[in-house]
Amino acid sequence: MTKNNHDKAEADITTQGQNPYEIVKSLLKESVHTLGLNENVYHVLKKPMRMFEVSIPVRMDDGSIENFTGYRSQHIDILGPTKGGIRFHPKVTVDEVKALSIWMSLKAAIVDLPFGGGKGGVIVDPEKLSERELETLSRTYIRKITPIIGPQKDIPAPDVNTNPEVMGWMVDEFDQLRGYNIPGMVTGKPIIIGGSLGRLEATGRGVVITIREAARVLDLDLSNATAALQGFGNVGSMTAKFLHELGVKIVAVTDAKGGIYNKEGLDIPDLLDFVGDKENYASDYKNADPITNEEMFGLDVDILIPAAIENQVNKQTAPTIKAKILAEAANGPTTPEGDKILEEKGIFVIPDILCNAGGVTVSYFEWVQNNMNYYWKEDEINKKLEEKMLFGFESVTEMRKEKDCRMRDAAYMVGINHLVKAMHARGWIKDSDLSQS
Ligand code: GLU
Repeated sequence: MTKNNHDKAEADITTQGQNPYEIVKSLLKESVHTLGLNENVYHVLKKPMRMFEVSIPVRMDDGSIENFTGYRSQHIDILGPTKGGIRFHPKVTVDEVKALSIWMSLKAAIVDLPFGGGKGGVIVDPEKLSERELETLSRTYIRKITPIIGPQKDIPAPDVNTNPEVMGWMVDEFDQLRGYNIPGMVTGKPIIIGGSLGRLEATGRGVVITIREAARVLDLDLSNATAALQGFGNVGSMTAKFLHELGVKIVAVTDAKGGIYNKEGLDIPDLLDFVGDKENYASDYKNADPITNEEMFGLDVDILIPAAIENQVNKQTAPTIKAKILAEAANGPTTPEGDKILEEKGIFVIPDILCNAGGVTVSYFEWVQNNMNYYWKEDEINKKLEEKMLFGFESVTEMRKEKDCRMRDAAYMVGINHLVKAMHARGWIKDSDLSQS
């Protein structure tokens, strides 16, 4: 795989043994309770409706066959097809994919998209594959999950270590099987074959919209603010780009191979250029001092952005955090222990299911454009993204006020409330389920 993969930064950052599925279930249960709903609601939401496991035999370049394992989890389809990315990572597990699909449901609900949550994963280290092996793996995975996906069923997208190039192979494989072009079967595609303008930038753009709104709540002047960032894949790099445009000084960036620091602020356009064009890791950038991931978490900055994988803000790193805002660009970056520490410290958390919802939002716009076969200009898409992110941010901050709770709990409650309305409308739950007794 080329080093120019936008999500390469996340590849090796390890999780810390916390089970994301257990975490999401306990948060769901708590929120159902706080909302005064019957536990029956939790029982419906706690399990993905479908979990598909597939074997993916790939002929390797040396002639041997390696058989990889892949998953696709579909959480709930009451609002529309399920939707969510596919990650290629050596640490993918069933429970991780389940948790990620539930997060997708909540995320889509918060920004009011007509989707449920889905997520796919393949246990593989893509850095160890050649381009041909990676393409074969991507195509075979799609063939294997073909019975359960499609533009009206479940729509994959990029996630950790997958990018538009991979989406291009996937849509091509699906089209070959079906015998005609079905661009709406996957989002995050290259523009020329039905991708949306603004999709590549969307998650980072959305992250920065939520940071801007959080700064407004905290009365923080962003043109004098500093930030540190973990992960320089698609989401991390785009977040850096848009934060820089707002005048925020980004002093540190870490990735899978190391980290870079400059207390005067890194030259972000130059760094983006270095990483993008020369296919380098951000941590190889020379005009900065080295920094470790642990040191980065403890920096005296205003904004800290984990943009890698799960469980990075934990009982080791959280006590060192000095930032005022923690913007969760990654999915599930904070453990329950980490969360407790953040709360004690009064850090304003922009929870993942709100913070990074910009990606799936523009994926939705991509799918809409594919369905109507008419394509919008980028300005139009960015304007619509802004509206969705503001709607989500306001819904969550209002719920936070109403329930006097953490931002994370408020986000869960907004998402659950939305799903509950649809469950009720479909008769999945009855009036008696809307109260505890
Ligand atoms: N993988 C991204 C996420 O976790 C995007 C999903 C999508 O665009 O469907 O939100």
